[in-house]
Amino acid sequence: MLKIRYSLDLELTNSIRDMALPEELHFQVRNLVVKTKKGSVLTKGEIIAEHPAPGGGAYHAAVGGKVTGVNYHSLIVNCTGGDDVVPPVDVNSMGKGAELLRVLQGLGVGVSQLSGKAEVLVINGLNPEPGVSVAQQLLRDGREELAAGLALARRLLSPNRTVLAVPKGDEVTIPGAESVQVRAKYPYSLDALVVRAVTGREFPEDTRVMNVMDLYDLGRVSLTGLPITETLMTIAGNNYRVPIGTPVRHILTVLGLETHPGDSIVLGGPFRGEAIYSLDEGVKKTDYGLFITSSDAIPAVQDAACINCGECVLQCPARVQPHLISRCAEYERFEEAERYGLNSCFECGLCAFNCFARRPLLQYIRFAKAQLKAKGQGAQA
Ligand code: SF4
Ligand code: SF4
Repeated sequence: MLKIRYSLDLELTNSIRDMALPEELHFQVRNLVVKTKKGSVLTKGEIIAEHPAPGGGAYHAAVGGKVTGVNYHSLIVNCTGGDDVVPPVDVNSMGKGAELLRVLQGLGVGVSQLSGKAEVLVINGLNPEPGVSVAQQLLRDGREELAAGLALARRLLSPNRTVLAVPKGDEVTIPGAESVQVRAKYPYSLDALVVRAVTGREFPEDTRVMNVMDLYDLGRVSLTGLPITETLMTIAGNNYRVPIGTPVRHILTVLGLETHPGDSIVLGGPFRGEAIYSLDEGVKKTDYGLFITSSDAIPAVQDAACINCGECVLQCPARVQPHLISRCAEYERFEEAERYGLNSCFECGLCAFNCFARRPLLQYIRFAKAQLKAKGQGAQA
């Protein structure tokens, strides 16, 4: 079995740094509706694409410039723009109904956890994965934004109880929320497990959960009225504010990070992240880390047969059957995959990480969910 570190405790040594702007931004627009075209000149903050599903979100130019290429996968912006920025929107003067949610969504805020009335609002303040410290950094350095975000979230949801889940031994607070300490070990940082630790219940319908990265974004929108155009990423132990769409090649060059033949570059975290296939790929809003892994340390997944060892079942915190789900997904028997617990899986990645045969279990699970979602079935992303 692979030897890995599950602790979420990290030491913060620096404040947040700004990533230098690249010459080009490469936005990933696969499955999005593109709202601009080749040759258009964009102002910073202008919308470039939106998700076709209600609540799917919108994506904006992190810098002004000219659109030099658009295809099914990506949209390229040459960063030649000046200092002009789209006009801000005063979200705090708006009522708290559907119109505010629509505006927030249009500014790039994920609103799926902000609608309706909630009994409990849980803020997940744990670092999402081992080696990633963005949550810890924001709880230390983003307090003004987090307070503004929490005020807006509470205005929308009117919860009777607001809880900030923090790592055990940590005394951090946000005004308006009681702090509850949670075990700082992966996978206990995942939303579903944080909610269970705080409420004692599994998937309670009257509870909403947001992580501090999303709360920070909400607070920035509340304070500035401007759309979200950056993501915070842990790279080589430091946290960087990175414009969305920044090519990975630019990050490696600026930070002097070397890669070797056989290495994989993973966007996200070591358990849930996705390896990229091109250094020209631009970072997404949900990419909270960048890792370079060698095939010696973490062997690549392969198209191997399951040997029925049962390790994935033992590892699964959702108590489902990853080996059977993956076999169904492999042969496109998606409805059968649901019967083995597909929709209860919260994509922790532990099954894939610990599979002796190195089967791409998480990829199969995500594939099955995406196929069912496209058919209008399947509840969970
Ligand atoms: S990713 Fe694998 S281990 Fe994690 S909840 Fe889903 S099936 Fe279980
Ligand atoms: S860990 Fe891998 S090889 Fe073992 S039962 Fe699960 S899928 Fe099969």
